Amino acid sequence: MSKIIIIGAGGVGNVVSHKCAKLPKIFTDIVLASRTLSKCEAIAKDVFSKTGVSIKIAAIDADDVAATTKLLRAESPQLLINVALPYQDLSLMDACLNAGVNYLDTANYEPPEEAKFEYKWQWAYQDRFKDAGLTALLGSGFDPGVTNVFCAYAQKHLFDQIETIDILDANTGDHGYHFATNFNPEINIREITAKGRYWEEGLWKEVEPMSIHQVYNFPVVGKQDAYLLYHEEMESLCKNIPGLKRIRFWMTFSQKYLSHLKVLENVGMTSINPINIKGQKIQPIEFLKAVLPDPASLGPRTRGKTCIGCDIAGTMSGEKKRVIIYNSCDHEECYQEVSSQAISYTTGVPAMIGAQMILRGLWRHSGVWNMEQFDPDPFMTELTQHGLPWQVTELPLE
Ligand code: NDP
Repeated sequence: MSKIIIIGAGGVGNVVSHKCAKLPKIFTDIVLASRTLSKCEAIAKDVFSKTGVSIKIAAIDADDVAATTKLLRAESPQLLINVALPYQDLSLMDACLNAGVNYLDTANYEPPEEAKFEYKWQWAYQDRFKDAGLTALLGSGFDPGVTNVFCAYAQKHLFDQIETIDILDANTGDHGYHFATNFNPEINIREITAKGRYWEEGLWKEVEPMSIHQVYNFPVVGKQDAYLLYHEEMESLCKNIPGLKRIRFWMTFSQKYLSHLKVLENVGMTSINPINIKGQKIQPIEFLKAVLPDPASLGPRTRGKTCIGCDIAGTMSGEKKRVIIYNSCDHEECYQEVSSQAISYTTGVPAMIGAQMILRGLWRHSGVWNMEQFDPDPFMTELTQHGLPWQVTELPLE
């Protein structure tokens, strides 16, 4: 039915490739392109051994709009799935417009020289995608992504009025290293060392990094230390959930992880300001990335579970109500299925489902969209069928 091109052969690209290959009636032709061809080769080989499906591969620098446009024109896919890095979002959107290809990503644009991620740059493409009759679906990972869809589902089926949303992301996985990040270290550390922010009564409130903490009792994984962070899905949800009073995002970290991060920060290793070493300008965080374990290598070593969900409070039929909608994934089970740990898995599966929504015509409107702007029901059905089953549990009122 449809040809797709996946850009980025990292942990998430691996999962998207495996999951799309399992649905050959929808994804009839798959091209995987990335900066390092050998990484595409390794994924294509593993996909073939697990599914018997052949994936075409190509080398591409996605920062090069002309080269990417040429590749897209040569392959003419219906959809580009961007699972490279947030720095490539705008150049890939430009290439899609040039070549008339629909677009999907899992993380919003971030300028490389400034640790600041915001939707404004991608929302500015609204008219161009609309005029071209193309769909751009932003943030089709887990958070953002599934968390946005959980909120849309709550809005449609569980509440007359949503008042507060707390998005909670727990990972109890242990990979046995002293310190490693579960996805791209540069993106991960930039996110955590930035100031915390949440939205309340129409205003953004900024706090020092990791300065607000709670012990949250998660389904499946129990009580965990959770820290307030800024996360991009809040920017669209505070606009798209009418009457919302407050939205916050929390992520769990072990004390061991935080101590290592503190030391790295204190000695300047997390900085994005380039320093001069032997005549070469290098960002300390780039160097740190090079010495840390590759997230893709954590798969076989990681044991434990994730639990990510939305704790939502509001009213239904005049009564106050609070629920959590969540998914829990097991790192080892994910690895067995697609040779990746659960963080890449929980991002790659929703990227594949978002792609299906566009290709099957269910979420196919011209323009630039966030996930909660579409009907959540078909997406929720696919989650259960493709490895991310979800539950809704009533919680006591606070
Ligand atoms: P990785 O670092 O493992 O993989 C990124 C891949 O992109 C690498 O193969 C890299 O190539 C490739 N790449 C980087 N720059 C370019 C370029 N200029 N041209 C072509 N390819 C390039 O990251 P992940 O797989 O962990 O993450 C992928 C994306 O998913 C990121 O944007 C991340 O922010 C997002 N994400 C979203 C989540 C969500 O829930 N929404 C959760 C986790 C991640 P090379 O190997 O040559 O460097």
